[in-house]
Amino acid sequence: MAREEQSAECIFCRIASGEIPATIVYQDELVVAFRDVNPQAPTHVLVIPREHVPSLNAVSEQDKDSIGHIVRVSAQIAEAEGCADTGYRLVANCGPEAGQSVDHVHFHLLAGRRLGWPPG
Ligand code: 5GP
Ligand code: ZN
Repeated sequence: MAREEQSAECIFCRIASGEIPATIVYQDELVVAFRDVNPQAPTHVLVIPREHVPSLNAVSEQDKDSIGHIVRVSAQIAEAEGCADTGYRLVANCGPEAGQSVDHVHFHLLAGRRLGWPPG
């Protein structure tokens, strides 16, 4: 069964459609990237598929283009933000123990400070 492309209740779907404002740094037909409203580093961008995919657990064959594209787009954003060489982290939280708080797949692009490892 086809998945619903957008969810009216999903804040990230509403950002992707332009219904809710966000500082968008990149968008194309597959993905949208915008600044996190509560940044955890000098650069904190969220990169999402336009399609509503609730979590990494729900990623399927039909998402491989958008999810793969997110990695490429993130590297381009890192270049534009001036952190491609100094370093950045691309991370996706999945589920409660990882701290996922929005049920629409998103990758955090974090940079601009030394990032601890292991993460908390
Ligand atoms: P998670 O906790 O699910 O890994 O990440 C969700 C992220 O979305 C958080 O870093 C949070 O600050 C961000 N966020 C939540 N609501 C909004 C919003 O309305 N606009 C923007 N730009 N970011 C949001
Ligand atoms: Zn959504």
